[in-house]
Amino acid sequence: MSGVSERGASLPHGNRLAALLEGWEPASEGAALMRIVTDLYPICRSITGNGVRQSLQCLSREVPLALHEVATGTPVFDWIVPPEWNIRDAYVKDRSGRRVVDFQRSSLHVVGYSVPVNRRISLEELRSHVFTLPDRPDWIPYRTSYYRETWGFCVTHRQLAQMTDSYYEVVIDSTLEPGHLTYGEYRIQGATDEEVLFSCHACHPSLCNDNLSGMAVAARLASHLAPLELRYSYRFVWVPGTIGPLAWLAANEETLPRVKHGLVLSCLGDPGGFTYKRSRLGNTETDRMVEYVLGISGATFEVRDFTPTGYDERQYCSPGINLPVGCFMRTPNAEYPEYHTSGDGLDLVKGDALAVSLSMLLRVVEALEANQRYLNLSPKGEPQLGRRGLYRSMGGTSGSGREEALLWVLNLSDGEHALLDIARRSALDLKVLAEAADLLVGHGLLRPLK
Ligand code: ZN
Repeated sequence: MSGVSERGASLPHGNRLAALLEGWEPASEGAALMRIVTDLYPICRSITGNGVRQSLQCLSREVPLALHEVATGTPVFDWIVPPEWNIRDAYVKDRSGRRVVDFQRSSLHVVGYSVPVNRRISLEELRSHVFTLPDRPDWIPYRTSYYRETWGFCVTHRQLAQMTDSYYEVVIDSTLEPGHLTYGEYRIQGATDEEVLFSCHACHPSLCNDNLSGMAVAARLASHLAPLELRYSYRFVWVPGTIGPLAWLAANEETLPRVKHGLVLSCLGDPGGFTYKRSRLGNTETDRMVEYVLGISGATFEVRDFTPTGYDERQYCSPGINLPVGCFMRTPNAEYPEYHTSGDGLDLVKGDALAVSLSMLLRVVEALEANQRYLNLSPKGEPQLGRRGLYRSMGGTSGSGREEALLWVLNLSDGEHALLDIARRSALDLKVLAEAADLLVGHGLLRPLK
């Protein structure tokens, strides 16, 4: 008999995901990811406004996500959706009429949420509205002022040093008006309504690792998973930081009990090793699975405990929500010099780093899909495997651990242990255990439990 074809018949899920990973082409995947990042890069995003809509529409070429609009003034828990901010142009002109600071050259040049301004002002007054990085004189800093009405420019320290006119014309052609907060959402229905949530922030302007890497990886992950038969349902949200997950959580409280796993995605394109920040709960199946997958991958990684700082895990892991949501990154926010500066540009993120990040997430999904509990239907003594052709039926090469896998799965399938528990106890690969479980199910020796 052929164990492989048996497995195919009994395991609709994992199969095509495994095939996807076996045929994985990091170069072409990396190129696809970089194309998305490059397309999104020039767009001026903020927590609201047309830049977010335009970015989500750009992502909808990968996956047919829905755009949700939440009106200004809508209360979301302890917060209120702010006015919508849009910007068309901004500049500082010297006396010769030359734009010495030009928003058209970088969306980072304007402090996010700047109120409109159109004035001729002294250099001295202008300086009080200008931010630079003296230690990194060639980088533009990233600044916002969401909840306090002000205006400002961000420039390189060298740019400021070259500004010697006494007066400048300062224009920010922006609007701050009642409108909407926009977020993107895409859901894949699986065999069950239990959900895996992926969330990334989509509110930073031209910053690649912090923002665009997560947005692109989430979109490609969704497009890879969409055609597969999956056990879990998968939900992806592209949200403005903080206020976005709050708006989503407030509108989806009845969904939350079905969220069994979740990851916030950010900083996935830099050359650093992986960092997994555990959920607030700390020892959920999500936490254990990400750590397991990273552990067997051979990649460099670090695992950290939850802290109420960082990205939107702060909201998903607030005490009244407390979802099993961790944060999956390479180098964490604020731990690389380019963070929140123009140095976090198209040169910092690399296609191969993005592609490896994405494949690691697909491995996590594959493992979560496989991590079921089973019940041994012949638990009194070992069932006679030879009679059923199960000995030497799975390749038969010594050292593959496959016969051991059959014995481990049979022994620990008492309803208490999922395959991840068996993998940890046996030191066998979860994938090999899943194959063994499928084979045993095919022979009526095992039954999957809910
Ligand atoms: Zn950031």
